[in-house]
Amino acid sequence: MYKKTCGVIGAGIAGLAAAIRLANKGYEVTIMEANAYPGGKLSQIELQDFRFDAGPSLFTMPHLVDELFQITQKDPRKYFNYKSLDVLCKYFYEDGTVLRAYKNLEKFETEVAQNTYEAPQKVREYLRNSRVKYDLTANIFLHRSLHRWQNYLKWDVLKGVLNFYRLDTMRSLDALNRKRFEDPRMVQFFNRYATYNGSDPYQTPGIMNIIPHLEFGYGAFFPQGGMYAITQSLEKLALDMGVRFLYNTKAVQIQTQGREVKGIEFEKEGKTQSMNFDIVLSNMDVVSTYRHLLKGHRGPKKVLNQTKSSSAIIFYWGVKAVFPELELHNIFFSQSYAQEFASIFKKGSLHEDPTVYINISSKENPSDAPPGAENWFTMINAPHNSGQDWDTLIAQSRERIIHKLSRILKKDIRPLIVCEEILDPRRIFLKTASDKGALYGSSSNNRFAAFFRHPNFSSRIKNLYFCGGSVHPGGGIPLCLHSAKIATDFL
Ligand code: FAD
Repeated sequence: MYKKTCGVIGAGIAGLAAAIRLANKGYEVTIMEANAYPGGKLSQIELQDFRFDAGPSLFTMPHLVDELFQITQKDPRKYFNYKSLDVLCKYFYEDGTVLRAYKNLEKFETEVAQNTYEAPQKVREYLRNSRVKYDLTANIFLHRSLHRWQNYLKWDVLKGVLNFYRLDTMRSLDALNRKRFEDPRMVQFFNRYATYNGSDPYQTPGIMNIIPHLEFGYGAFFPQGGMYAITQSLEKLALDMGVRFLYNTKAVQIQTQGREVKGIEFEKEGKTQSMNFDIVLSNMDVVSTYRHLLKGHRGPKKVLNQTKSSSAIIFYWGVKAVFPELELHNIFFSQSYAQEFASIFKKGSLHEDPTVYINISSKENPSDAPPGAENWFTMINAPHNSGQDWDTLIAQSRERIIHKLSRILKKDIRPLIVCEEILDPRRIFLKTASDKGALYGSSSNNRFAAFFRHPNFSSRIKNLYFCGGSVHPGGGIPLCLHSAKIATDFL
């Protein structure tokens, strides 16, 4: 019997998830991936005896990954496993305060009471509000297409709309947090959640306080073997489902006939070839898809011109010492968050005192570093690429980070760094085709941002679909997995 064929461009997390869903629906699926490996941003690098997850380090909502195994009648635990984290993240403030964010609310309240002057009750109320908002909005903004009018007639959507006044869309996340908390340290703590989708807490609307619910409500997890195990297990599942992978294969054109998709032209081993498909699904950044693969087709200008999310500079450091005072996830806050975000989002530059995030996967997966050493994924938020002098910014940041960490950890870390690799917005673009090297597609700073994300289908070209962090519902692993579901549910 003839099986409908689908060409997926890109083996990022959303491309993998979409391919699995389509194979499960009976499509004959081929993934074309420009790199020699799957995962896109969710990949890994090896340096000497160290292994690093290259991009995402925080894993939330693992049930969305499990679901891919469940719908295909497979046991997820035979493919990959994960553990729940007791300490979500450890925070170091410039005034010397140290705060552990425990998943367990009672423990977190005690921690807040012991280390700040905030009433712990306020934290509980805040997280309750976060859950209420999440429950009211998830079905509107995350689980379904915003671009099909039928979806607005559903009861849960109407309920969200009727409760619009409760969603804090008219003030910024920072304004909301200042209203809710007395202690500026708790304001900074909850402002940080804006960075989970590359936004600015001083601009993004208060509704973004749904994000803490993902961590405190659902939990944070560590996949056995590290974050890259997610990619590897999905690649294996896709192969088991009969998906065909073409690596080192760069799509160069989405071919159309009239207003309908016909196939993909691609380059492999220096040769240009093409394959016909009934359906094409692009997991490549949507701006890059229009710019490079759909030349001659008019794109939705306003949507494609939305301001991009922030990017990052990452130093992958092999460190020849063990720091028992550090956890898997660690944040070293800046003294002034307002100045830091103004530098990133208003000036398109970096603040002299950046907030530093360190992820050390060898804490959970000891084989990621040799004995007596640790693998530090050291990251600062950065603007997306608009032609800055990145080499100078990177050199300055490196000095500032080393100085800041050495001061707070009371140990000179410079001589401990035995190997290094650096990722910056330019390289993020080169590795994944993410427009301007943004981590999460367009930013959510604008209160209407959700409505200006590209839909998961093309309204101009029949049988062309989109998934991934640059389209609805947005970036981050959970949302990318939702995008794959929404796109393939049309088929
Ligand atoms: P991508 O990962 O961007 O993959 C797209 C794929 O398409 C790539 O493999 C690329 O090579 C391929 N491609 C592009 N053009 C072509 C072409 N012409 N032909 C063939 N293939 C092509 N999210 C979290 O949930 N938690 C985190 O802690 C977190 N931290 C992050 C830290 C960093 C440093 C980065 C970079 C991202 C982080 N994110 C995090 C965001 C998350 O990684 C992304 O939202 C998600 O991985 C994006 O997946 P995607 O499927 O959209 O596509």
